[in-house]
Amino acid sequence: MDRAAFTLLPEPATGRAGAEALPLAALMLQRAAARQDAAARSALLGAALVGAAHWNGPGAGLLPWFLALRLMLFAHGWWLGRRLRALDGQAAQAAALEPRFVLGLAASGATWGLVGWMVPNMDLVHWSARDVFSCLVLVYVSSMMLITAAHSPRGMVAHIGALWGVAVLPAAFQREALQESLVILVAVAGLLVTTLGYGRMLVRQTRRGVLAELEREQLTLNLRRVNGELEQALRQATQAASRDSLTGLLNRRALHARADYIAASRRREPGPCTVMLLDLDHFKRINDLHGHAAGDAVLMAIAATLQGELREVDVVARWGGEEFLVLMPDCAVEAAMARAEQVRVAVGRTLVAALPAGYALSVSIGVAEWPLAGDLVDAVRRADAALYRAKAAGRDRVTAAA
Ligand code: GH3
Ligand code: MG
Ligand code: MG
Repeated sequence: MDRAAFTLLPEPATGRAGAEALPLAALMLQRAAARQDAAARSALLGAALVGAAHWNGPGAGLLPWFLALRLMLFAHGWWLGRRLRALDGQAAQAAALEPRFVLGLAASGATWGLVGWMVPNMDLVHWSARDVFSCLVLVYVSSMMLITAAHSPRGMVAHIGALWGVAVLPAAFQREALQESLVILVAVAGLLVTTLGYGRMLVRQTRRGVLAELEREQLTLNLRRVNGELEQALRQATQAASRDSLTGLLNRRALHARADYIAASRRREPGPCTVMLLDLDHFKRINDLHGHAAGDAVLMAIAATLQGELREVDVVARWGGEEFLVLMPDCAVEAAMARAEQVRVAVGRTLVAALPAGYALSVSIGVAEWPLAGDLVDAVRRADAALYRAKAAGRDRVTAAA
């Protein structure tokens, strides 16, 4: 189904009559017009054939009228089709064009009915090949209408009814061949009833098909939307599972996953790696003196300072309450010590609005090498021992593991 047609549906189509009846009608009309557009070209050919057959016949006087009307209706159908196609999402306007569309089809049927007037002889025994051909044309046009107007029940009835109504009009006035005229009228009436019976069935099936298509389209859209929501929820859940909710830093679990990745990379490309364990000094005092919210603000500010001071390849995680762990790939202990010193100074300069002006924060840092063959837990344990010594030596300092 093309997008333009679908935009006529503001609400999901459920197959029930009511709210979506108008958009469905508009959509059906748009499709009917598209089919008539396609049929109009073969109708031109048919009109030309009728013209050729009756060129020298008794009905030749009607030919200019017939051909002129056919051309006019061709132009009208083409113009209306273009307007209907351009009505994206304007269901009301599309529906407003329906009477015009039906009228166009009625006029088209009536014009074809003129072919019946070109066969003035009601005596079937003496019909010429031209007369038989004309009759076949009318039957053919009616049959084609069953297919091409299946999206427009009113248009179908208008076209077929007008065609046969006009075609048999001369027969109704033929006083001199009353019996033949009656036979023709009854036969045409029977044909009309049968044809319209089939038309009803076709229209119903077509409508059901379009509704099913709309439902499918709507289901696909809903599925796509739900899928998008699920993907977003999954992203959020993954984020929540790997991040600390207060500082936004990686949590312990995520840090271990990164550590595994770094360890695997180092097996391929050996290089130094250092761990840094940081613990804020006298943090409990901040909570006690300035409140838990101020403590939280400090933790957030320190997280930002760490991220600002460290490289992008460094992995920064919240290790515990006011403790942070940093993995520094491709960084030997000496360079890490220098970097840790920078961090210590930066923490001292970090200002937190929730604390009194001039409040100087400080941090103690333990640095340890994570050897290629060693495991991370051991490296962290040694960094922790170094941190303990930094605390014992008076805090606000960096100490390397022994
Ligand atoms: P030290 O210099 O020896 O490290 O002293 P400290 O006060 O920093 O260390 P201590 O272990 O005595 O206290 C840590 C405090 O951190 C205790 C705890 O209430 C607080 N804390 C842990 N997690 C959070 C948190 O998420 N928010 C806040 N506001 N406080 C926290
Ligand atoms: Mg602590
Ligand atoms: Mg502390």
